[in-house]
Amino acid sequence: MIADLFAVYGASGCGRGVMPIAEQQLRRLGVPAERLVFVDDRPSAAVVNGRRVLTYRDFLASSAGRHQVVLAIADAGLRETLAQRCRDDGVEFWSVRAANVVVMDDVEVGEGAILSPFVTLTSNIRIGRHFHANLYSYVEHDCIVGDFVTFAPGAKCNGNIVIEDHAYIGSGAVLKQGRPGRPLVIGRGAVVGMGAVVTKDVAPGTTVVGNPAKLLVKV
Ligand code: UDP
Repeated sequence: MIADLFAVYGASGCGRGVMPIAEQQLRRLGVPAERLVFVDDRPSAAVVNGRRVLTYRDFLASSAGRHQVVLAIADAGLRETLAQRCRDDGVEFWSVRAANVVVMDDVEVGEGAILSPFVTLTSNIRIGRHFHANLYSYVEHDCIVGDFVTFAPGAKCNGNIVIEDHAYIGSGAVLKQGRPGRPLVIGRGAVVGMGAVVTKDVAPGTTVVGNPAKLLVKV
């Protein structure tokens, strides 16, 4: 039987941060080190941080039981495009989770997630596909998080919050707790700037910054 081949897709900043977590995870599972590679469509080098970098075409052409990818690219739109391409090619998605991530009760996380060191997901949470939770970010109780959502380091999502697809929560931002039946809503594709303190719903496609967070009007 041919062993699976695992990839971290994206060999830039995000991918280089994810690779060591992926390595540790696969080592714990007894997967040989050579069965983990970077995939990048525009590789800057053949080897990055000691790991082989394959183009997507070469990855697909490599002999493997299953081809498994985690999309380590911060841009949610690119993640969605690449996810579709991988799916069309029969590539599967794996999730990368640091050993010290804390996950409490009744938490569902969709395929292709990246949970970085010191992430906490508390209880009764639903999270969609290809979620990125960067270092020290958390999701508190009774939250619903859509697909391709990105949390930068230290993003704080308190209880009873709905985050729609493609939203980006900046580093150190704080989202105020909603109420049962009246969640705080971060709309589809919205951007919450770093350090923002969000006390009200954020409309889809908008950017908010500051404390209390206000709409960023671009001039
Ligand atoms: N990339 C790719 N295929 C694509 C788009 C991007 O392989 O269709 C790669 C790109 O070559 C780069 C990485 O994804 O190496 C994105 O890196 P970037 O520094 O832009 O962002 P980050 O690492 O923060 O997500």
